[in-house]
Amino acid sequence: MEPPKQTEPKGLLQTHELYKYILETNVYPREPELLKQLRALTAAHPLAVMGTTPDSGQLISLLLKLVGAKRTIELGVFTGYSLLMTALTIPDDGQIVAIDLDRKAYEIGRPVIEKAGVEHKIDFIESDALTALDKLLENRDNEGSFDYAFVDADKANYINYHEKIMKLLKVNGIVVYDNTLWFGSVAQPEDKVVDDYVREWRGTVIQFNKTLAADPRIETSVVPLGDGMTICRRLY
Ligand code: SAH
Ligand code: CA
Repeated sequence: MEPPKQTEPKGLLQTHELYKYILETNVYPREPELLKQLRALTAAHPLAVMGTTPDSGQLISLLLKLVGAKRTIELGVFTGYSLLMTALTIPDDGQIVAIDLDRKAYEIGRPVIEKAGVEHKIDFIESDALTALDKLLENRDNEGSFDYAFVDADKANYINYHEKIMKLLKVNGIVVYDNTLWFGSVAQPEDKVVDDYVREWRGTVIQFNKTLAADPRIETSVVPLGDGMTICRRLY
């Protein structure tokens, strides 16, 4: 089942005008040219709605700078918007372990990533994310070695990713979970959610949000950008 086609690209905001206002005043003027190009390439993809929006990308970049991220991990690459944003932001000797079970969409974005001259920072692993995380954890040196993680793959496994990411992150490291407000459906009665795809994963996302809220190992903030992003800092 596929994500719904969004008719009005305003994310979770009340009006399209408000979203346009944010984009035009603060986001587009500062969006790197190559990210604009990547977005244009992605627009033709039937699942383009999955791509990270530029306002969310801006928050990612800010967070990376704030934690001085050097070593990062990304689950769910698609055409690579968040990946390229990360690659452009971390230092030249930084590293991104980027995991996606399907490299087809990544290949669409790759020419832009090459053009940006940041491919050397990217270690793309074509794999199911759980398997790849388990492999990383086989090497004890990877424990507590990541400054930042972005989780944007299958929602069904967020809860499993969380346990593994908690081991891989440094104390004070940041993990961002994307789509945690799930088209706004987390606050709607189930029978009011008309889209089958949204309804299918609504309960899973609600459960995940509860788990994060009760997890003493992190402090969190839910940000209603894009489809909702939960920012977590590992406390211990
Ligand atoms: N971060 C991307 C959007 C990711 S969309 C951006 O900025 O545009 C979700 C991606 O997760 C898809 O590319 C899909 O192939 C991948 N995915 C889905 N299930 C997965 C799994 N079990 N393991 C790894 N990747 C998965
Ligand atoms: Ca997403």
